[in-house]
Amino acid sequence: MTVQPQLSTEILNENTKGKFIVFEGIDGAGKSTQIALLEKRLKSEGITVVTTAEPTPTAMGGLIRDALSGASPKSSCELAAMFLSDRISHNISPIYGIQRLINDGTYVICDRYYYSSFAYQGLDTDIDWVMDINLNCPQILKPDVCIFLDLDPSQSARRLGDSRAFLEIFEKTDTLEKIRSRFFDVFRLLGERENIRIVDASQSIEDVAQEVYRNIF
Ligand code: ADP
Ligand code: MG
Repeated sequence: MTVQPQLSTEILNENTKGKFIVFEGIDGAGKSTQIALLEKRLKSEGITVVTTAEPTPTAMGGLIRDALSGASPKSSCELAAMFLSDRISHNISPIYGIQRLINDGTYVICDRYYYSSFAYQGLDTDIDWVMDINLNCPQILKPDVCIFLDLDPSQSARRLGDSRAFLEIFEKTDTLEKIRSRFFDVFRLLGERENIRIVDASQSIEDVAQEVYRNIF
């Protein structure tokens, strides 16, 4: 389905569904920065946009954040199951659910989705199992496009060092290197089944934004 960005919101709502856009990439790759820029650009074109993120700001999302910060450690299988539950709620909630928004013609931009589960929880659990429970869940929507912001971990660590006081358990540089290559393993495994666009995130913020936009339409 092709949606012309210059269409008015009313026409979009009547005739088409929205779009589900996911951003992935290691911490510090520029996801938050690019999501804010894309949201601004799409809104300026009259498109209804909602930005969202996983883990969600729900009770389950809070439990996941406690686990990731090390405050309340969980096994990788537990984490994969917690993310799965959080993701299903994120899809089907009658209030903030992705599926309802898309059906209403809204563009939903999500910061991380199941690709992160595959890369992170797939590191030390059975990746086939993590992929199976997500990809074969009837209440988990497949994104229209996944933008992977690809950045060398030494660069992302520098960016994070500039902007964050402490790092979560996954953010140490050698772990980031493993996660980055795990993302590429995942994309190879997924092949043509998913629409994944790899964007060189080492460029200037403006150049990355242009490339992201070109890959949305
Ligand atoms: P993420 O959400 O992927 O963790 P952020 O968008 O928070 O990444 O970016 C991490 C830091 O890097 C921020 O300080 C941000 O301003 C900076 N940054 C983002 N994109 C770029 C870029 N293309 N070049 C230089 N610095 C960037
Ligand atoms: Mg961010």
